[in-house]
Amino acid sequence: MKKLLFACAFILCALSSFAQLTVTQLRVEHLENPMGIDQPNPVFGWVLESPARNTMQTAYEIQVSSVSLKKQGDMWKSGKIASEASVDIKYAGKPLRSGEQYVWTVTAWDNHGNRSQIAKGKWSMGLLLPEDWKAKWIESDIKGAQPTYFRKDLQVGKKIASATAFVSARGLYTAYINGQRVGDDFLTPGWTSYKHRFQYQAYDVTRLLKQGNNAVGAILAQGWYSGRLTWKVGNAPFGEKTALLMQVLIRYTDGSQELVLTDNSWKYASGEITFTGIYDGETIDARLAQNGWNSTGFKAQNWQSAKTVDYPFNNLIATQNETVKKHELIKPIKVITTPKGEKVIDLGQNAVGWEIVKLKGNAGDTVRIYHAEVLDKAGNFYTENLRSAKATSTYVLKGGAEEVFEPKFTFYGCRYLKVEGVKGELNPDNFTFAVVHSAMAKNGTFTSSNPLINKLQENIQWGQRGNFVDVPTDCPQRDERLGWTGDAQAFFRTASFNYNVQPFFTKWLKDLAYDQNKDGAVPNVSPDVLSTDKRYAGGVSGWGDVATIVPWQLYRAYGDLRLLETQYPSMKAWVSYLEKNSKGNIRSIKENEQYGDWLFYSLDNDNGGKSAITDKNMIAQCFYAHATQLLVNAAEALGYTQDVAYYSTLLKKIKDAYLSEYMTPNGQLVSNTQTAYVLALQFDMLPEAKRDQAVKRLVKNIELYKTHLTTGFLGTPYLCHVLSRFGQENTAYKLLLQKTYPSWLYPVTQGATTIWERWNGQKPDSTFQYASMNSFNHYAYGAIGDWLYREAAGLSEDAPGFKKLIIRPTFNKDFNQMQAEQYTPYGKASSAWDSRNGWTLRVEIPVNTTATVYIPTKDVKSITESGKPLSEHPEITVNNSDVPKGTATTFRDKDCTRLTVGSGTYVFGFTPAKTGSAE
Ligand code: BGC
Repeated sequence: MKKLLFACAFILCALSSFAQLTVTQLRVEHLENPMGIDQPNPVFGWVLESPARNTMQTAYEIQVSSVSLKKQGDMWKSGKIASEASVDIKYAGKPLRSGEQYVWTVTAWDNHGNRSQIAKGKWSMGLLLPEDWKAKWIESDIKGAQPTYFRKDLQVGKKIASATAFVSARGLYTAYINGQRVGDDFLTPGWTSYKHRFQYQAYDVTRLLKQGNNAVGAILAQGWYSGRLTWKVGNAPFGEKTALLMQVLIRYTDGSQELVLTDNSWKYASGEITFTGIYDGETIDARLAQNGWNSTGFKAQNWQSAKTVDYPFNNLIATQNETVKKHELIKPIKVITTPKGEKVIDLGQNAVGWEIVKLKGNAGDTVRIYHAEVLDKAGNFYTENLRSAKATSTYVLKGGAEEVFEPKFTFYGCRYLKVEGVKGELNPDNFTFAVVHSAMAKNGTFTSSNPLINKLQENIQWGQRGNFVDVPTDCPQRDERLGWTGDAQAFFRTASFNYNVQPFFTKWLKDLAYDQNKDGAVPNVSPDVLSTDKRYAGGVSGWGDVATIVPWQLYRAYGDLRLLETQYPSMKAWVSYLEKNSKGNIRSIKENEQYGDWLFYSLDNDNGGKSAITDKNMIAQCFYAHATQLLVNAAEALGYTQDVAYYSTLLKKIKDAYLSEYMTPNGQLVSNTQTAYVLALQFDMLPEAKRDQAVKRLVKNIELYKTHLTTGFLGTPYLCHVLSRFGQENTAYKLLLQKTYPSWLYPVTQGATTIWERWNGQKPDSTFQYASMNSFNHYAYGAIGDWLYREAAGLSEDAPGFKKLIIRPTFNKDFNQMQAEQYTPYGKASSAWDSRNGWTLRVEIPVNTTATVYIPTKDVKSITESGKPLSEHPEITVNNSDVPKGTATTFRDKDCTRLTVGSGTYVFGFTPAKTGSAE
C-alpha cells in the first residue's frame, strides 16, 4: 500500500512538474511540420509555456528518427544540451535522405527545476539532388495564353503505404489525381527569379491514389513565367514555352516502391480555359469542358502525346515560403446600378483574389466580370487606373443546370465587380469573392480606443495580404504587380509585426541576391523583369538598399543568423557598388534614374507653396551611410572583424562628406524638408551637438504645413520614429491623428479599406489623381504600422528575435487604451495600456526571454504591480542607474522608471509624470 501511495505521489509530482513547462509550436525550417524541404541541416525551434514568472530554458534534448526505420533516435540524438537556445538549432545527425519522412521530439528543462513532456513534430525531405529527378519536363504545342491539359492513366498493383507527389512548372500548374485537386495551393510553383531557380511543391497524395486504375493530370498556364508582365505589352520575360514536371513516389506496404513520372506517355489537349493571364484575367468556355479528363475511364482519343524537353534539374528548389492559399470568402454588401446603368457588386472591401460565381442560362450565354477598386465621382465603375490590365473574367455557359465558375491562374485587386451578360436582377447570393495570399501566419494585432486608427491598422493588414502573393508587390491590380524593392524595404518591419514573414522574405531575398548585377547593383524589382531596359538597370537609392535593410531587419525580428550569413555577400556587394559609384565619398547618381523620396507631397499636388522636394543626391548619401551601417552591424553579428574595421572607417568618411556637402555650419540642410531632417536624424548623419536644432527644424517644418507630413516612400517610414526618439512624441501623435491630406487618416475618412499609393489618390471632391499612377492598394505608406506597434503601444525587440524585449509605450491623452500583441519566435508578447480606471500597463513576456519595461514616472514608490508596491515584488528589478542623459529637450526617457522583468504577465499601476495630448 505504502509503495502504491509513493508511486501515486511520484506520478502526481511528475505530472505537476510537467504541467509547469510545456513545449509547443514545434518548427522545422521555421515551419510547422513542413513537407519536402531541401536544407541538408534544417533548423529546429519551439515555444515554451509556463505559468511561473521568470522562466528560462536551461537545457534541451532533441531526437530525430526516420519513419521508415521506426527506430527512436536513429538519425540524431543531441543528448541533453545545457542551453537557452530554443530557436534555430541546427540538425547535426546522419545525412538526411531525399523523399524521406522524419519525426522529431524535443524535451526542455527550465530554471525552476521543471522538465517538459516530450513534444513531437515531423517533416519530410524533398528531392535533394538533380539526379533524384527521374521525371522529364513535358510540353505541348498549344501556344500563347491558352493553358494545356495533361493526363495519364496508370495501374497501381499493390497496397499503398504512402505516396508523395513532387510537382513544378515553367508557368503555373494545378495538378489532379483521380479527379481530385492535389493540395490546396494556388499559383504554384510560385514566383522566383526564374532565370536562376524554380520551386517545386511536395504533396502527400496517399489518400488520392488507390489500388487499381488511377489517373493523374495537370493544367499548365503561362503565369509569371511566359505571360504578359510589366507594362510592355507582349512580354514573355522568362521563356516562350511553358513546361510541366511531376514525379510521384509510391511506397508499397511490402517495402517496394514505384515512380509515376511525366514523360512522353502523357497526353495533352486544350480544355475549357481558353485564355488566362496574370494581368488580363481568365476566359472559361464551359462548352469546351472535357468532363472527367483527370479521372479514370476517360477516353483521350483526340489527345496528343506530350513532348519531353531538356530543361535542367539543378535549378529546382524546394518550396521556401508558405504557398498562396484561399483565405476569407467575402460576400457582397450590395448591388448597385450606376448612373451609367452598369450592374455592379460592392464587396465592401478592396481585396485580392477572384470571384466564385453561380450562373444559370443557355449554352453560349456569355457573362463578363470586370474588376475595379473604386467608383468615380459620379458613382460609375472606374478602371482607368488599371492601365492596360484587362482584369476581366469571361464565362461562357454550357447551359442547363446551374454552373459554378472560378478562375485558376489569375488574380484581381478590386472592391467592385461589374457584371455584364446576366439577365434580370443580379442576385448577390450567387457571388463570393475568395481572398488569396501567401499563407503567412498571423503574427500581431494592434488596437486602440480610436476607431479611425483601428481602421488604419486594418487597412494596412489588408494591403499586406493583397500584396503578399508569393512575392512582395507594389500593387495587385494594374499592369505592374512587381516586387519593387523600395516598397518592400519601406514596409518590411510593419509586415513582420502583422504576419510571420520570415519564410516569405527568406525566399525573396535569395531571389534578390540572384538578381543582383555582377557589379553589385540591385535591380529595381525582384524577380527582375525590368533591367533589360536601361532605365531600370538598378542601383537606385532607397530601392537597392533593400539588400541591406531587409536582411538586417529580418535578423532583428526573427534572430536568424544563418539568413544574415547567407545574405551577407549580397549586402556587401551592394555597399561595394555604392562605394564604386562615389567620388570623394560622395555618392554620385544619375538623377533621372533615381526615384528620390518617391510620391512625397509634391509640387503638382500643391495648393499654396506646400511642395517638399528633397535633393536626390542628399537622399542617396543618407542611404549610402545607412547601408554601410547595416553592413557593419551584420559583420559584427557574424564576427567578420576585418569588415567591421573597414566599413566603420568608410562610414565615418561618408558622414563627414555628407556634412561638408549637404549641411551649412549652422546645421541647415540643403533641402529644408521633413524627409531631409528625418533621414539625417534616423541614420545618425549629424554629430550629437547638431541634433537638437535639426529636431527643432523638423518640428518647425511640420508646423509650417499646419501639422501635416510631406514625406514620400523614403521619409515616411522613419518620420514618427524620429519624432519619438527625440522626445517629440506629441508631434508624432498629432501627425498620426491628422485627418486632412497629406496624412494617414485622410484616406480612412474617405472610406478607404486599404492603403493608397498617393496621399491624395482621391481628393475631397472625389476626383482622382493621374490614372497612370493611382493604385488604391499600395502598402508603402502603411509603414506607420511599425511605429504603432513599437512606439505607440511600445512593444519592441531589444535583441535579435525578441530574446530581449523593450516595453516602452508612448502614452497619450487622446487615447484611453492601446494594445499590441506579437507572436515572437519565443511566444506571445503583449503591451497594453489603459487610462480608464487610473493608468495601467499590462505586459506579457514570453518564457525564455526578459524585458525592460518603462513606466512614465520617476516616483518608484508610486508604481504597483498587481496592486502591490514594487517593494513586494523581489522578482522585479528597478534598473534606473544607467538611464542615459539626453539633451534637455529631446530625451524621451527622462521621466521614466526602468524595470527589468522575466517571463510572465504583469499589470503595473502608476500616475504618469507627463502625458502628451494631440489637441
Ligand atoms: C511602383 C512603385 C515603385 C515605383 C518606383 C511604381 O510604378 O508602383 O511602388 O516603387 O514605381 O518608381
